[in-house]
Amino acid sequence: MIDELNQDQTTRVQAKAPSMDIPVEECVTIGPLDPCTIVIFGASGDLTARKLVPALYNLYLHGGLPKPFVIVGASRTSMSHEEFRERLKASYEATEKADLARWEEFAANLYYQPVDYDSLDSYVGLAGYLRELDEKYHTGGNRVFDLAVPPSLYPVIAEMLGKAGLAQEGENGKGWSRIVVEKPFGRDLKSAMELDQTLHRSFGEHQIFRIDHYLAKETVQNILMFRFANAIFEPIWNRSYIAYVGIIAAEKLGVENRAGYYEQAGVIRDMFQNHMMQVLALTAMEPPSLFEAERVREEKTKVFRSLKPLDGAEQIDNLILGQYGSGMVDGAEVAGYRQEPKVSSSSLIPTFAMMRVFVDNWRWRGVPFYLVSGKRLARKITRIVVQFKRVPHSMFRNVLGEDILANRLVLGIYPEERITLTFQTKYPGARTCLRPVTLDFSYDQNYSGPTLAAYEKVLLDCIQGDQMLFWSNNGVRLSWSFLTPILQECETCGDRGARLHPYDSGSWGPEAAQKWMQLIVDEE
Ligand code: NDP
Repeated sequence: MIDELNQDQTTRVQAKAPSMDIPVEECVTIGPLDPCTIVIFGASGDLTARKLVPALYNLYLHGGLPKPFVIVGASRTSMSHEEFRERLKASYEATEKADLARWEEFAANLYYQPVDYDSLDSYVGLAGYLRELDEKYHTGGNRVFDLAVPPSLYPVIAEMLGKAGLAQEGENGKGWSRIVVEKPFGRDLKSAMELDQTLHRSFGEHQIFRIDHYLAKETVQNILMFRFANAIFEPIWNRSYIAYVGIIAAEKLGVENRAGYYEQAGVIRDMFQNHMMQVLALTAMEPPSLFEAERVREEKTKVFRSLKPLDGAEQIDNLILGQYGSGMVDGAEVAGYRQEPKVSSSSLIPTFAMMRVFVDNWRWRGVPFYLVSGKRLARKITRIVVQFKRVPHSMFRNVLGEDILANRLVLGIYPEERITLTFQTKYPGARTCLRPVTLDFSYDQNYSGPTLAAYEKVLLDCIQGDQMLFWSNNGVRLSWSFLTPILQECETCGDRGARLHPYDSGSWGPEAAQKWMQLIVDEE
């Protein structure tokens, strides 16, 4: 009966528009944008066509690109400007909600320049071409160099840009120069530090933008607003009130056409050394004194520095690795990881990992953070679950027993962009019964203006010179320092195969993970 009465009730929170509405343009950019040229290396590739150029076009539609701007694609493939434009148009047309109304005026600023990535002459030629475009468009010598190429090419391109003088800024009428590096940033601590040194030989830290597009998701950015723009959450955001925190990024898809990359990476490099660590940092960090890039990034690095090392015996208790086998997804039978094209039939690459980590500091001592990510899981969800402790004493124990559900806050990132807070109320009627109800705020409620997709936001921030949402070199170093021993042990230990738990596609991961999984995923 009580179960029946305890059925979940949901209360919608009406998001009220602020009394003084901020004009939409002011929310999209932080000031007038410097004219600039955006040079995309690897412009014949997938990322350019599917993400970067559609993002730039959408920015253009929302007034989020500078005036004037120029985009130059650079890669080895031989193509004319027109062929480049047609190729990008075809790719954009295939996207959902494609709006070609202003494509032609946008595309008039798209150019293509073939380059050999390791030939200095190519970069000298590119520099000359960029100067011509600067003169034609008055872009002031301001340049963004986006490396949309395989990571093995990052060092050579950065070095050649330096040698060709394209990394210099501020002299002889030159403007600023910024370099954007995609993930993955290295494959362990050593390679990440080598890459960093190479970048720093040509570029200063303020010029380097290490992308983690997760950080640019509205709901991820909102974590800091939620925590630090409200007085009521921060006082209880600690070990005294929080039992545990769960961070899950579950995917329903398998490895798809990225097996070549995934066989080298696995889930820890693909998801933990970037997105999971960043979301952990945003959830656990101390409030910076000012919402400003350096201070925010500094507080995040302190979280990485406080992580209790997960090596040796600690790993046995706190790390569960898995690999998906065949199973049913959306009613159809799907292949296991080892049967996927281009995957070794004896592959020991994990497609699932669950870690219990501890942030060893005053605020969080003893509070477990469960981090979980995997492919071919039951549902695609990304969320942060903050589980509060139970009431210290149940005054209702004579009628309800001791078992009163504790409060739970869920920050949904995908697919539900929402915040829910569950708490107990009295069930109406004569009997004393409780029912859990949920306050539910949907992120897009009462807002119909433009929003920026993750790539739009990172490109805009790069043009604005705002490094808030990008990895700092210290952050990268500390995050790899935490994860590299885990990777080493996982990749070299004798019982590597035995530690990799199989799980069915379409399930919630290996059996061994279920005791923790049920703490985070409660609706299935
Ligand atoms: P691609 O494999 O499509 O490569 C991009 C371009 O780089 C190719 O068109 C090719 O251009 C050049 N290239 C590829 N392989 C080589 C090689 N071995 N030697 C020299 N040049 C090569 O990559 P993506 O566009 O998919 O990704 C670019 C970067 O972005 C990668 O670092 C990837 O990890 C990262 N990334 C990609 C995502 C995606 O959704 N695609 C998501 C997140 C990150 P050409 O031959 O004309 O020079």
